[in-house]
Amino acid sequence: MTLDSSKRPGDLSEATRIVGAGRRREWTGPVVNPPIWRASTHLYPDTAALAEGPRRNEDGRFFYGRRGAPTQWALSDALTALEPGAEGTVLYPSGVAAIAGVMLTLLRPGDVVLISDNAYDPTRTMGKGLLTDLGIEPRFFDPLDIGGYGALFCERTRAVLLEAPGSLSMEMADLPALAHIAREKGAISVLDNTWASPLGFRALERGIDVALMALTKHVGGHSDVMMGSASAGPELYGRLRQRAQQLGTVVSPDDAALVLRGLRTLHLRLKHETDSALAIASYLAGRPEVAQVLCPMLPGAPGHDIWSRDFTGGCGLFSFVFKGSTAAARNRFIDALQLFGIGYSWGGFESLALPIEPSGYRSRMPWPPKPAQESDRHGVRLAIGLEDPADLIADIEQALAAWREP
Ligand SMILES: *Cc1c(COP(=O)(O)O)cnc(C)c1O
Repeated sequence: MTLDSSKRPGDLSEATRIVGAGRRREWTGPVVNPPIWRASTHLYPDTAALAEGPRRNEDGRFFYGRRGAPTQWALSDALTALEPGAEGTVLYPSGVAAIAGVMLTLLRPGDVVLISDNAYDPTRTMGKGLLTDLGIEPRFFDPLDIGGYGALFCERTRAVLLEAPGSLSMEMADLPALAHIAREKGAISVLDNTWASPLGFRALERGIDVALMALTKHVGGHSDVMMGSASAGPELYGRLRQRAQQLGTVVSPDDAALVLRGLRTLHLRLKHETDSALAIASYLAGRPEVAQVLCPMLPGAPGHDIWSRDFTGGCGLFSFVFKGSTAAARNRFIDALQLFGIGYSWGGFESLALPIEPSGYRSRMPWPPKPAQESDRHGVRLAIGLEDPADLIADIEQALAAWREP
């Protein structure tokens, strides 16, 4: 058996490709994983080789620390191997840095960018802050209203930023349709694919131009590292890479090794979390305290039809809203949970719960989601980890008692 990923046939299943991805013998040497190359200076044998370094500016060649070394290259290469249609992957020091890096590559002063109204809140903030400061106009759109979205394009619309399911509220957009319209209008489509990863949604194959992820979440998977990525086809990858070099974007080799370690078990963790989340979501859907479960993976839940048409997998992240709750009762529920941490982020091995009130983070979409009543606005987002789902359900059951009575 050869361990050289460059020699593997391209038609292996994902589980098999995850094992081999990025493991080029020239980077790993005789061991399984690439060593952690902590390096700023790369030494050259002579001045002729020194002159050659910057001239070639190719991936996977030593030049200087800011262009990385085999630890980072192996991670980029592995992520590229998992995204069919990608020419390469740029790594960023966080998910937000990836979004900023992509926006600063695609947009110029005077451009318009369309941003999904239910996008991750720091993405919105970037539109209203950084991008507006640079003379770029963000326009927010309801991703469920395809006609309204199409009507927002103008000659200045350079890019659209999509995310599905929506952060916190989990609405499922028709991504192939939105990407197709963007292409017809001459705009570049960017998808924040953190929720599904390429294992659950092959973005570039489905017409998206740039697929980005917060590797901080599932790919890292252990709540101990922050990183982001953006993968694209040849032309856009070249532009992303060049802009990242101009911005001095680099990730540490230690962090790259942690993310690479997380990546090897990504498919197993996603499968377990998806199965557990489905069990917990269907338990919640049957509870009288719950008005609505917002989990596109759950049959009958909003967005399930689109999810089952377009996605091949999910993850442990979903939300629900209480029926006729107060914020205080919802918070009592969360505080009573024993097995769920209270905190931001998700995609780690441990379960988390977060109170949600998305109405402050949107301008075009309703909250609470229809057909809920106005009093059904107090929600919870659950990130299901690797615990036994029966234990998590028992914990939720006892916390529901705290919701009912102080
Ligand atoms: C967390 C998150 C990000 C940002 O990632 P960081 O690494 O925390 O900067 C971007 N998009 C989505 C959907 C996220 O959940």
